[in-house]
Amino acid sequence: SALSLKTSHSSLLNALQHFFGYSSFRFGQEKIIEQVMSGKDSLVLMPTGGGKSLCYQLPAALLPGITIVISPLIALMKDQVDSLNRQGISAAFINSSLTNEEINSIFQRLAEGEIKLLYLAPERLKSRYFLESLHSLPISLFAIDEAHCISQWGHDFRPAYTQLYCLKQQFPTIPILALTATADVTTRKDILMQLQLHQPNIHIDSFDRPNIRLTMADKYNGIQQAIGYIKKRGVESGIIYCNSRWQVENLAKALASAGINCAAYHAGLESEIRNNVQDNFAKDNIQVVVATIAFGLGINKLNVRYVIHFDPPRTLESYYQEIGRAGRDGLAAEALFLYDDKDVQRIIKRINDSDDESRVDVEMQRFQTMQGFIDAQTCRRQVVLNYFAEYTDKSCGNCDICLDPPTLFDGTVAAQKILSCVYRIEQQGNIDYLIQVIRGELNGQVKANAHDQVSTFGIGRDKTPGYWHAIIRQLIHLGYLQQDIANQSTLCLTQAARGVLTGNSILMLAAPRLQKASYWQRNKQ
Ligand code: ADP
Ligand code: ZN
Repeated sequence: SALSLKTSHSSLLNALQHFFGYSSFRFGQEKIIEQVMSGKDSLVLMPTGGGKSLCYQLPAALLPGITIVISPLIALMKDQVDSLNRQGISAAFINSSLTNEEINSIFQRLAEGEIKLLYLAPERLKSRYFLESLHSLPISLFAIDEAHCISQWGHDFRPAYTQLYCLKQQFPTIPILALTATADVTTRKDILMQLQLHQPNIHIDSFDRPNIRLTMADKYNGIQQAIGYIKKRGVESGIIYCNSRWQVENLAKALASAGINCAAYHAGLESEIRNNVQDNFAKDNIQVVVATIAFGLGINKLNVRYVIHFDPPRTLESYYQEIGRAGRDGLAAEALFLYDDKDVQRIIKRINDSDDESRVDVEMQRFQTMQGFIDAQTCRRQVVLNYFAEYTDKSCGNCDICLDPPTLFDGTVAAQKILSCVYRIEQQGNIDYLIQVIRGELNGQVKANAHDQVSTFGIGRDKTPGYWHAIIRQLIHLGYLQQDIANQSTLCLTQAARGVLTGNSILMLAAPRLQKASYWQRNKQ
């Protein structure tokens, strides 16, 4: 039968001090713990570092039976279990690293009431036999960590998690506590449905991380920009995310030869190397980690001062989770997003090319919210918080849009230069090529195509490549230009371009932001 315990403020506080040595609860923890102890199902959304673990660890210590924690983070189980045991809460884990003998002996100890907290990988529940063994144990609570992994809509779907629907069916009276640091509205609903939570207590912490400055900047010479930025930050710790292992290696090599103390991290490296990087980063022996998204879960470092996105993340959720690794000490930190339309086009192509047709739609929709964030002309934090349904009408004062609002200018002439140049080169070039022609750069390809002979050759010499990049990007967003993704992203004119070319309409554009960006000294570009 369900266990329901009434708890008083002082008894919980005593237990907190006794087991964890903390003098007070963090915002939300006490109420969550009360609800859990009273036998209610719960969904808890708290940012990373918010103190989710305590919400099941303290109940585990106090409830009469066993608390089962389902976690995908096998690598972290041992550490967590060790530290719980040190704190006087007897804990164990069962995952693929154990022999059958070891597992049997854990079951023995569970049956004898010697273990309060058992960590499991979700795969375990696939075994009928295993589930049946659980039935013979006095279980008080199921805690499901990283609960967003259950949802196809979540950004980190794990098939093994779908198994968890069986918990409510098999153990209808045992409360479930689902925890996650990242779930948009759709994912939340999905978690509730799939776990079949019963009239759950839902706790949603603020997602706002006001100390992290959100900065978007055009990437026009990414590696040099990254180097310049890192050097400017001195010895501060940072993480750079790239989308591919190749890019990680490539960038790490470039940073290292610029004298930056850095290391690469991705799933293709041996676990010994990866652990080594994680360790040395934690100890400040490594200043910068260049990584794929494989680096993240379980980084327990408070003083990461910046996170750079060298490539765009696939979803706004993953973006927000990744930047959340900065400034966990609450001090000022920055999330720098180096944006290049080429990267975006590459991702769109990859999504479209996916073998799994059923995912294309979902992935595309999710990426569109990312693009919305990228294109935002209003406070970026508002865009994110609204996405997480934490509605706010206040702009934050700590993002590039707030700090440096885009000013509109009459961009008709600039647009005409671009569009007529696309016309003159007979729609045969991509963005970079077009910029070479418009700036009058006489290279081999331009010569070979005789594009130094067109009337628009060099008409944009007075402006930087970054400037033109920003203008072209807006023309694409506004629907005057299209990129032919299937053909090396060649730029083509749309019907709408005609009105601009004939001078029939005035086109207001956002002034390119590069000139004001103070992150790096620009070489003569
Ligand atoms: P999450 O799982 O939400 O990412 P953790 O549970 O790992 O966060 O907690 C982050 C850190 O905060 C841990 O070092 C934890 O010991 C600490 N912590 C949690 N609750 C409290 C509290 N009430 N008082 C002080 N420190 C706390
Ligand atoms: Zn803002």
